[in-house]
Amino acid sequence: AENAESRGTIARLSTTDADFDTTLEALLAWEGVSDAQVRQRVDEILHAVRTRGDAALVETSNRFDRLSVSSMAELTLDKARLRQAHDGLPAEQRDALALAAERIRAYHEHQKPESWQYTEANGTVLGQKVTPLDRAGIYVPGGKAAYPSSVLMNAIPAHVAGVSEIVMVVPTPDGVLNELVLAAAYLAGVDQVFTVGGAQAVAALAYGTESVPRVDKIVGPGNIYVATAKRAVFGQVGIDMIAGPSEILVLSDGGTDPEWLAMDLFSQAEHDEDAQAILVSWDADHIADVEAAIERLLPTMEREPIIRASLEKRGALIACADREEALALANRIAPEHLELSVDDPESLLPGIRHAGAIFMGRYTAEALGDYCAGPNHVLPTSGTARFSSPLGVYDFQKRSSIIHCSAEGASTLGRTASVLARGESLTAHARSAENRIRKD
Ligand code: NAD
Repeated sequence: AENAESRGTIARLSTTDADFDTTLEALLAWEGVSDAQVRQRVDEILHAVRTRGDAALVETSNRFDRLSVSSMAELTLDKARLRQAHDGLPAEQRDALALAAERIRAYHEHQKPESWQYTEANGTVLGQKVTPLDRAGIYVPGGKAAYPSSVLMNAIPAHVAGVSEIVMVVPTPDGVLNELVLAAAYLAGVDQVFTVGGAQAVAALAYGTESVPRVDKIVGPGNIYVATAKRAVFGQVGIDMIAGPSEILVLSDGGTDPEWLAMDLFSQAEHDEDAQAILVSWDADHIADVEAAIERLLPTMEREPIIRASLEKRGALIACADREEALALANRIAPEHLELSVDDPESLLPGIRHAGAIFMGRYTAEALGDYCAGPNHVLPTSGTARFSSPLGVYDFQKRSSIIHCSAEGASTLGRTASVLARGESLTAHARSAENRIRKD
């Protein structure tokens, strides 16, 4: 398939290539495991914060974020400071942020799971009670770039879920605070911000320190130190997921402007050299046009080196026979973002089984979903859409089952429980159930 000498920036594949399956597998393969050295460093940081609390948090922040603070007070921002950041923004940014926040909130309001119960004929009531978490921790990456949209996407569902306290952490390398990030935190309902990052911030949220309250769940993306730390504290606290590099899969019927599609592919590729952008089409001429658009537009991009590296390493334009084959590929890839750039996306939708978010039709650029369409942009990557879902209100709630037996229900169920308990030789279980069996 891939001819190193003749190929351009992005690989051209066809499902009829003899080695198509192995080429595709190699392209999709991604293992986000951290090496032993990172794990060891993270373990040391976790241990330091767990045993020495604020002192270790201050030390590690000074070291890794190049600060020189002497207490956690200098790394703590209250609601008034967040509000000040919000009020100080240029009106255009404040309005855009407010509109995005409003739309994200409205979407997530639809997601709220309800408690439920039903009553059996003998009066026994069974049900499920939904309760928000007491305290959620939001990790906002801040090492190399700042992401106000991530603040909205992580904190708003927590707020809508009814979480009582939302604590946010964000590193400030060299002491640089991002006002947009703080303003987003204000709009999203964050209660308190600590300007710490990396494994030390995850440790503080998981174990608690003198200043940082221990949370019940930590959500949000981050670099390898953050991901490794989240993996390590899982069990002590809940975590959302360990996200891999961002991905987009575009299914095109050939009718969308090739330059639009090239830019859609770039919009993922510019995130990261490991990001993945793939286009599948059953129109071979169209694929050639998209490839030409890629080569034409690439030199105009601010992030050209990152985009080029990503397309070269993990990108592909795949020619397939027809819509059915394209659908089968989409389900096999189970992409984080799936664009159905076709005339009648509704007709393809029933066939899509695995995708984090589905962008329907030629006008729905994935980038709109990243910022302000409403649905969450924290999505399952690396094929995990086979078994997981976008971050949502449900991630900040848990369920308790409710059983309320009537006297008659207890008597009837007691007979069944007694038989099963005696079969397991658990006599106390059996007698506890039998006590409630009616004697008359
Ligand atoms: P980050 O906040 O994740 O990490 C910065 C922290 O890493 C620093 O504060 C420091 O404590 C720690 N660190 C750095 N070097 C270290 C070292 N040598 N030893 C110990 N700790 C060290 O910010 P980042 O580095 O910019 O990474 C952000 C990541 O989040 C990127 O990989 C980006 O792609 C990802 N991201 C993903 C999404 C998404 O939705 N999937 C969104 C935004 C960002």
